[in-house]
Amino acid sequence: MGFVFPILKQALMIRRVNDRVFNMVKEDNLMTSVTAIPASYGDSLHHCVACGGKNIYFWRNKHFQYTLGQTKEAFQIHRCANCGTGFLNQPPHIKWLQAIYQYSGQALTSPINFDEVLAQEVEFPNCVVDARRMSYFADVMNKAGNKTALDVGSGFGFYTQALRSFGYRTVSINPGKYENAVFKQLNGDTPIPVMLDKFESAESFGIVMMSQVLEHILEPDKAIKKASTLLSQGGVLACAVPNFNSISVKLLGTRDNACLWVPEHVNYFTSDGLIYLLEHNGFRIIRVEQITRIPINYLSKRLGLKGRLASLVNAFIKLIKNPFEYLMNIFGIGIYINIYAVKN
Ligand SMILES: [Zn+2]
Repeated sequence: MGFVFPILKQALMIRRVNDRVFNMVKEDNLMTSVTAIPASYGDSLHHCVACGGKNIYFWRNKHFQYTLGQTKEAFQIHRCANCGTGFLNQPPHIKWLQAIYQYSGQALTSPINFDEVLAQEVEFPNCVVDARRMSYFADVMNKAGNKTALDVGSGFGFYTQALRSFGYRTVSINPGKYENAVFKQLNGDTPIPVMLDKFESAESFGIVMMSQVLEHILEPDKAIKKASTLLSQGGVLACAVPNFNSISVKLLGTRDNACLWVPEHVNYFTSDGLIYLLEHNGFRIIRVEQITRIPINYLSKRLGLKGRLASLVNAFIKLIKNPFEYLMNIFGIGIYINIYAVKN
């Protein structure tokens, strides 16, 4: 039973951090929070957002509630018969998305504390691990001789931090003020608070990093064209998006809120759709992979288990999680798609 002790130790550590966070969050609640943001819809789409195919069809309705103060809204999700990519149709209006993103791109409806973000990282060290892996591959593939990187939708700042650790000078852009406050505490500077379409730069970049960005953007084709103009010849575009073919969407259908998280996520990519989108814009695909991370307390939390039973179930998940995640990725039903492409 030697494996129980490290789990116990970790649980106690998280508990201590969480207690501290709770006290800080109580103070934060006195600050302004997002109240109801009026919903409005954009124009109907008649072609696929990834491959441009005209053979699109209604897939399912998705109901959602953005904040507790808002009434339920429904969206239609359409799919492309050619590449399988899904998208909201009609999509939310750009003004609606901008109203949300000025606060957060991660569904934060109130400010988040730096320590709270770090506590999440102690529990599930995903952001740091993913940021390091993606920055490593992008650096290896970067043949532009340009050690400047653009971090698009820089979030809490883990990707900028990783890119710097690989020797890059970075420019970060992100409209969300809640995330930018955490970013400043992590990296010392503040991102430029704009979305990609409004960003202008006289210099070009060796890496454009777009982690968890393309699924948020209306007209992703324009975003990829923009990324191409910002890259040096031989530079790398690194993208991570949720996988529409994931096991989560297959099992939960529209109850999935990882990929099908509305209204923030407007596009739901498949590998085929993403590859087409990049190749169509002159990129050469170097690497496509899937990433799955199951939190070890995923099952015990879902089953509402507590105490020793929860620890045992967690220990079991810890034991099977690596082979399980590996199989999901091999079968193409992993949770995230990572793609690396070079500007020709
Ligand atoms: Zn398509």
